[in-house]
Amino acid sequence: MLRTLARRMATRGVVFDMDGTLTKAGSLDFKKMYDLAGVELSKDILAEVAAMPAAQRKEAMQAIVDVEREGALRMELNPGAVELATWLDVQGLPMAIVTRNSAATLTYFLEEMWDAPVNPALSRDGELDLGPTSTPLITKDAPAKPDPAAMLLIAKRWGVSPEEILMVGDSAANDVAFGNGAGSATALLDEGAAGRSSEERAAGKKTHEPTFTVKTLLELVPIIEAENNINKEKIK
Ligand SMILES: [Mg+2]
Repeated sequence: MLRTLARRMATRGVVFDMDGTLTKAGSLDFKKMYDLAGVELSKDILAEVAAMPAAQRKEAMQAIVDVEREGALRMELNPGAVELATWLDVQGLPMAIVTRNSAATLTYFLEEMWDAPVNPALSRDGELDLGPTSTPLITKDAPAKPDPAAMLLIAKRWGVSPEEILMVGDSAANDVAFGNGAGSATALLDEGAAGRSSEERAAGKKTHEPTFTVKTLLELVPIIEAENNINKEKIK
């Protein structure tokens, strides 16, 4: 675990990215997605597609959805995801998911492979309706990560400050920038693969610098324990 920035606040909630974070990296073929949509890998694909003329935009969006559908069928849970979520639940810490993936893929993930409570579950198409006790407040008007708007809305719903939220994701440009932009703590899951996050870090953008870098999700347990003094009584 590499701690890069000082942290003052306890963690009172955790927001997760989905693809490559709660699920194993590699199910989504980003290269194919960008190629088919006609967007350079270094760009923000959703922003680029949104700026296309209508006919081109429709085609590019369809390509994204097709690749996401293929990817959903390959989805597997990341090691430690269930254990971490179970532990957070026992600690009484709320969890949310914010993904740039579609509502359809997020729904599939929640129905087929995820049991831990998340509220809200936010896709690029807006917040999923998680049942009668959860009326979606976050609409599709909340822009996709890395815009920090959704994080501020989550903090409001949880009744905590954004600084008390830990954002966990595998993309420096999308997840770390999203958390940093809201003033939250950020943990970059960097499994050492030659992925986009390494390239982004090499670019050295300050908005992309995480508070913590971890190689596995379970490394977050001692980090949160230390910040929240969870073992204080045991140590005494
Ligand atoms: Mg991801």
